[in-house]
Amino acid sequence: MTAELMLASLEAADRASILHPFTPLRAFAAGEMGPPRIIAGGSGIRIRDKRGVELIDAFSGLYCVNVGYGRTEIADAIHAQATELAYYHSYAGHSSEPAILLAQKMLQWAPPGMAKVFFGLSGSDANETQVKIVWYYNNVLGRPEKKKIISRLRGYHGATIVSGSLTGLPFYHTAFDLPVGGILHTTAPHHYWNAEPGIDEAAFSRRCAQDLEDLIQREGADTIAAFIAEPVLGTGGLIPPPHGYWEAIQPVLRKHDILLIADEVVCGFGRTGANFGSTLYGIEPDLITVAKGLTSAYAPLSAAIVHDKIWRVLEAGSDQFGPFSHGYTYSGHPLCAAAGLANLQILEDEKLVDHARDTGAYFQQRLRQCFAQMPHVGEVRGVGMLGAIEFVADVEAKTRFAPERKVGAQLAAACLEQGVISRAMPHGDILGFAPPLVATRADIDEIVDRVATAIRPIVNSMGSEAA
Ligand code: PMP
Repeated sequence: MTAELMLASLEAADRASILHPFTPLRAFAAGEMGPPRIIAGGSGIRIRDKRGVELIDAFSGLYCVNVGYGRTEIADAIHAQATELAYYHSYAGHSSEPAILLAQKMLQWAPPGMAKVFFGLSGSDANETQVKIVWYYNNVLGRPEKKKIISRLRGYHGATIVSGSLTGLPFYHTAFDLPVGGILHTTAPHHYWNAEPGIDEAAFSRRCAQDLEDLIQREGADTIAAFIAEPVLGTGGLIPPPHGYWEAIQPVLRKHDILLIADEVVCGFGRTGANFGSTLYGIEPDLITVAKGLTSAYAPLSAAIVHDKIWRVLEAGSDQFGPFSHGYTYSGHPLCAAAGLANLQILEDEKLVDHARDTGAYFQQRLRQCFAQMPHVGEVRGVGMLGAIEFVADVEAKTRFAPERKVGAQLAAACLEQGVISRAMPHGDILGFAPPLVATRADIDEIVDRVATAIRPIVNSMGSEAA
């Protein structure tokens, strides 16, 4: 068989056998979206597909390949561990060396006061664990009514039943009977769209805190267990918090004895230019969710990191409930833990968090210089190695394009034509960027220049009409 035929049959087999996540099923199966892009390899910030096309991955996969592609140090660590011991579970006092060493290292990285690490495999299952921990915590404390969880509109926390319910984006709910009961959503802290005209960021942050307070009052504080939020809203649009947001929100939570879960799945391990988003914004979480950047996605691994204050209650729960009856076959999987250890070693050896802060500042500056004045650009925003450009039909009137125009998707396709993978974020017309933390200034220049070349002719030729 020729190489071309082999590739065609692989593509056909993909269509015939894989039910792809987050994909328009019929259009994909019918070939209307073109063939599947089968990724074959990668090095640094670049990947190549089976057709030989090389692309700059300016979204690090799904903002997870933070140390870049092709890191043989991590591959070697996985190989060595697989040769020694590929698997053992961590139930009932069993363990493995890489899981122990990794948990220890994660606690060194984490903000002060964190005491224990519970391992899972995905961000979704870790958030599921957080909710169970919070429920268990209130059961131990004899507060069985205090169980509701508040999340934010436009937050993303996963796709399983509870984590998908925490997610505050309606298109992840429709057709799946979500959200389930006991999950509430409060205001999305996006000043650009949600602030009243003339209100500055600090005043808007106070309004968000007041909205939270009002929701708590309506529901009754004794029914609410926790508040979950990403330090920087991710999938909902890559939105850094407005000034004073966390300063305004946290006292409300403390006043009502509501736990704070920081979902650091995207922000954790350097993405914002700090170890954690919590560090950057002065957030003092009770529980932290991590995944993605923990292993740079070389193996699936997530964790719920638990503050000492929570741990002490969980521990006391043994007297009432016996063993902590929660966990997964693969909790603390040695191969994933070995990948995590090697990944954190790279972050430390190469000082990638500092690098992400410096290169991130340059990235932010270049994005603003290049795009803020372009026609149809409503907002350029971001922090560290997270950046977004939001496009609107009319900048003065702040009106959106009609969704059927799929402007965001069209612009992302144009970037791809120029060899750059960005992400059309699912809410509005937003191009998102999250380059690997190893990207250099020259890489940033290349990304920004190619994106500008891709989108300039399109935005210049667009009318202001929304239809
Ligand atoms: N939380 C956040 C903040 C995320 O961005 C994601 C994934 N994008 C998740 C949770 C869910 O992670 P996973 O897809 O690994 O289940």
